[in-house]
Amino acid sequence: MLELKQITKIIGDKTILRNVSLSLRRGESLAVIGPNGAGKSTFFKCTVGLLQPTSGEIILDQEIIKKNSPLLKKKIGFLGHESFLYNTLSPVENLRFYGKLYKVKNIEEKSQRLLKEVGLHYFKDIPIRSFSRGMMQRLAIARVLLPEPELLFLDEPHTGLDQEAVKVLNSIIKEKQTDGTGILLISHDFEQVLNLCKRVVVLDKGKIVAETEVVDNMNLQTLKAWYEKAVTKG
Ligand code: ADP
Ligand code: MG
Ligand code: MG
Repeated sequence: MLELKQITKIIGDKTILRNVSLSLRRGESLAVIGPNGAGKSTFFKCTVGLLQPTSGEIILDQEIIKKNSPLLKKKIGFLGHESFLYNTLSPVENLRFYGKLYKVKNIEEKSQRLLKEVGLHYFKDIPIRSFSRGMMQRLAIARVLLPEPELLFLDEPHTGLDQEAVKVLNSIIKEKQTDGTGILLISHDFEQVLNLCKRVVVLDKGKIVAETEVVDNMNLQTLKAWYEKAVTKG
């Protein structure tokens, strides 16, 4: 349903992405891994519509997508380094604000259910400025899920989280996968990649240099060995 064709991104005189092609179907879980500076976050921003690629096409359900396209907004939920949350507002108020922005129906009811799901229902009316990183991220996940996206894009979502928040995040990713949501996970955490994804691609110096299915007998060691080889070659 989502197809990226030959995405190139040049910023200034620097080519950050070179002809990156990738597809993601409903119910599929794909990991993008690669060294720091490989272009993963730039790739993420291009695919969720925060950046316009210099060339190449993004096709979502047979339609060509441009930056800030309403179709992107409707179908793709994304969680990057910025949480888009308001510190002076409570979880309920944050979700209400965001729900209105996205024209979500039954905001209050859905918010209550989501806050319970991410374990924030006891804190739902407290301004979030005193929240821990884990609590913030749990609310950020609830926010992303509120408009019921069909694809979920996550850029290093586990970074800095406590165990409880990791548990919440992973159970939601797994639940969404079963529901038929397509998941794209950018991560440097190989354990999470093995745990959550069925397919892995390696991005190195702005190019996809390797791709594999996560087979049953793949473990941390074999994944790491495969990755090291891909990065050395690329
Ligand atoms: P990753 O997420 O894999 O660590 P990034 O996409 O953040 O990689 O960055 C890839 C490269 O592009 C880096 O060398 C980074 O410095 C550069 N880069 C990213 N954004 C910009 C920008 N707005 N202007 C100039 N260079 C950028
Ligand atoms: Mg980086
Ligand atoms: Mg990054």
